Amino acid sequence: MTSYLFNKVALIGVGLINSSLARALKEKKIVKEIIATSRTLKTRKEVENLGIVDKVTSSAIEAVKDADIIIVGIPVAAYLGVIEELKNVFKEGAIVTDVGSVKGSVVKEISSLLPAHVHFVPGHPIAGTEYSGPSAGFSELFKGHWCVLTPDDNTDQNSINKVRDMWIAVGMKVDIMSPDHHDSVLAITSHIPHLIAFSIVGTVTNMEEDLKIEVIKYAAGGFRDFTRIAASDPIMWRDIFLSNKGAVLEMLSQFGKDLDNVKFAIQEEDSKTLEKLFTKTRMIRRDIVGKE
Ligand code: NAP
Repeated sequence: MTSYLFNKVALIGVGLINSSLARALKEKKIVKEIIATSRTLKTRKEVENLGIVDKVTSSAIEAVKDADIIIVGIPVAAYLGVIEELKNVFKEGAIVTDVGSVKGSVVKEISSLLPAHVHFVPGHPIAGTEYSGPSAGFSELFKGHWCVLTPDDNTDQNSINKVRDMWIAVGMKVDIMSPDHHDSVLAITSHIPHLIAFSIVGTVTNMEEDLKIEVIKYAAGGFRDFTRIAASDPIMWRDIFLSNKGAVLEMLSQFGKDLDNVKFAIQEEDSKTLEKLFTKTRMIRRDIVGKE
């Protein structure tokens, strides 16, 4: 007889992340049954046609009521309304987890809403692409990447272990840290780089219109890489910046100072400073690639 980590999994939202997780959980036979809920008919039909879950429903209440684990996979600003609707439906001992890219504000809001008989283990699988929706998902998405869990000191250890085991089973490495530490780390490693990509693609596009420079036509190398990142989901990123405002603004202020220093070095034709910086960043890249 197969021994499952969870008998019944409820997915709230079936976009890129939750659909990839559904595929991986099914492929590896980690769970017995997956029921997914999505607000739009178009997505529900798409998920049904993909055949990646056992059941799709428009009713989050139906999906959640006897689930062992509930995985929230929607934009973070939508959490509050959904959890408010479901807070009295979760069964005794159910685990609620999520895949949201921001943790501090989300954890505070959700923890205060959930009843005591529910175990909340917030999570963030740090893996993704610039595509959205269930058809964009694939079971290998998580392989080799990190997942961060941000439970508090009172969270039930058995529930933390089960969520950790689920992510490990789909190929992730798992770290545990505080929600605020997670948000600072992600602000600099993910949120600011995305902000730079959104800004530079915006600047270049305006420039093309104003100066008639054929930047899009000749886009290659650096700019092309930025356009890939800047093609990420607008709603998701809007929510990330608004939910992680504090850490993003703090890191942005530091980045602004560093950018001013580079600008000054160019102005002063300070070749030593420029060469030193570029040599250091080249080493960092080699270090990262070497560790992959
Ligand atoms: P996605 O592909 O755009 O899918 C979003 C899902 O959320 C869809 O099922 C959508 O339902 C649902 N949804 C959107 N707004 C909603 C609302 N107001 N109420 C209820 N449901 C709503 O998104 P994703 O990329 O999987 O991201 C989901 C979560 O994972 C986000 O919190 C994001 O921060 C996090 N995350 C994303 C990445 C990434 O690279 N994409 C990586 C790690 C973590 P309908 O289709 O029915 O509208």
